[in-house]
Amino acid sequence: MGDSVGEGRKMKSSATKKCPYCNSHVKSDAVRCDVCRRRIGVADAYGVAKKPVNIGSYVVALGAVAALVGYLIWAFGG
Ligand SMILES: [Zn+2]
Repeated sequence: MGDSVGEGRKMKSSATKKCPYCNSHVKSDAVRCDVCRRRIGVADAYGVAKKPVNIGSYVVALGAVAALVGYLIWAFGG
């Protein structure tokens, strides 16, 4: 009376997530898409990876705004 338990079971429950850029399926713990090489975040409730916040672009945008404001002050303030 052999009782083989659990040999045929494989983990396939949400082991992947979807890349938000190219819609490819990548590993759920991947931090970078294998297909388009972009950085991706954790999967949301729909199984789609979130786009990580790009701090660099914020800094560049803030710098541009600061430069513009500084120019306006210099142009109209004097
Ligand atoms: Zn991708």
